[in-house]
Amino acid sequence: MLAERAIDHVVLERGEVANSWRRERWDSLRLLTPSAQARLPGYRYEGADPDGYMTMAEVVDFVAGYAAASQAPVRTRTPVTRVSAAAGGGYRVIAGDGEIHCRSVVIASGACNAPHVPALRAAVPSSVACFTPFDYRNPSQLPEGGVLVVGASATGAQLAEEIRRSGRRVTIAVGEHVRLPRTYRGRDVLWWMEASGVWNQRYDEIDDLVRARRLPSPQLVGTPERASLDLNTLGDAGVEIVGRLSTIRDGRALFSGGLRNLFSLADLKMDRLLDTFDEWARASGRDADFAPRERFEPTRVPERSRLEIDLNSGEIRSIVWATGFRPEYGWLDVPVVDHKGQLRHDGGVVEDAPGLYAIGLPVLRRRKSTFILGAEDDARDIVAHLEGYLDSSKER
Ligand SMILES: Cc1cc2nc3c(=O)[nH]c(=O)nc-3n(C[C@H](O)[C@H](O)[C@H](O)COP(=O)(O)OP(=O)(O)OC[C@H]3O[C@@H](n4cnc5c(N)ncnc54)[C@H](O)[C@@H]3O)c2cc1C
Repeated sequence: MLAERAIDHVVLERGEVANSWRRERWDSLRLLTPSAQARLPGYRYEGADPDGYMTMAEVVDFVAGYAAASQAPVRTRTPVTRVSAAAGGGYRVIAGDGEIHCRSVVIASGACNAPHVPALRAAVPSSVACFTPFDYRNPSQLPEGGVLVVGASATGAQLAEEIRRSGRRVTIAVGEHVRLPRTYRGRDVLWWMEASGVWNQRYDEIDDLVRARRLPSPQLVGTPERASLDLNTLGDAGVEIVGRLSTIRDGRALFSGGLRNLFSLADLKMDRLLDTFDEWARASGRDADFAPRERFEPTRVPERSRLEIDLNSGEIRSIVWATGFRPEYGWLDVPVVDHKGQLRHDGGVVEDAPGLYAIGLPVLRRRKSTFILGAEDDARDIVAHLEGYLDSSKER
């Protein structure tokens, strides 16, 4: 898009094209978005299985194919180690062995650069091995014995299922989560998110934007069977479900109670979203195009959920912290990051830093912003703003 507008630019990448998909994902991961939603500006999935979910190797090929087709001027193996305001305006970028002065910087360094692990990890006894989604590759890495997975969003639910399938005892600690069926009325649930316009909702139309930006990823997995993944399927597979890990005291992991409320809230929100889809189907005159309306079994509350596990007892030999991801801005020497490590921006226009932009962050400009298919619309908006900025700063 920058090239279309004849804006001179360069793309700096510390690793290879599609680095995060090459280096920061576990072996079995497939996209949770269907291949039909693999779309980047002027480029889309053209394979034989648009309803399938790409493996990581396929995603790498897809992104590399886009880089080649768009002839983006990418400099790989060029880590940006510092961005600071330049004396006469614009920015000074230290990258690789060199230095660049530019009028504008678009921060596209990703929303998930580092796993977020709560501070209570420090209280885990040394006999228990800890893993994050960045160092977990497959179950064979884990020591023999029971596994506690902390977090039940997309990552935690997927890893709990995979580790359980490898024959281990698995306990999953569940906090706030987003439940979704894989398919609804015969179509992928994420197809509904797009078609019904939910994903297109703009950031400035969302009542509680701070909350929307913090929402955990949905409990979804991409499998050839298009299977749903939720606490019921995990329970059926023999995974023990406990509440949110609230603290670790003297080696004892303590879990919150109140699973009933937590589960009914997730079920309620799922039903409301499905109502939105139904309403859209009706209003757009397409009701008859889809299978009949569905509602799903409520999340089953375990008869007795444990409130405590002694981590010194040998029952749990490893913990997988599936507690979310964070961006990493250690290289950004401009005071635009808040005390929680989040960039201060208005729809990707970084506050108090003219010419500085961001893309790829949760609900940056739309609900779909953090997904691959969200890049195109956001990039168009950001590039339009950036062009206006360059024009106006030239005039001054
Ligand atoms: C486990 C997991 C599963 C996901 N599954 C899906 C999915 O199924 N569908 C979907 O649409 N989205 C999914 N996402 C979200 C996905 O990350 C985004 O859709 C997509 O990767 C965002 O692209 P991006 O370019 O903004 O960020 P990234 O892919 O993170 O790319 C950022 C790039 O910046 C580089 N970089 C970072 N810092 C520097 C620096 N200082 N100097 C130079 N280069 C730097 C990194 O090496 C990286 O290549 C998933 C995310 C995770 C973590």
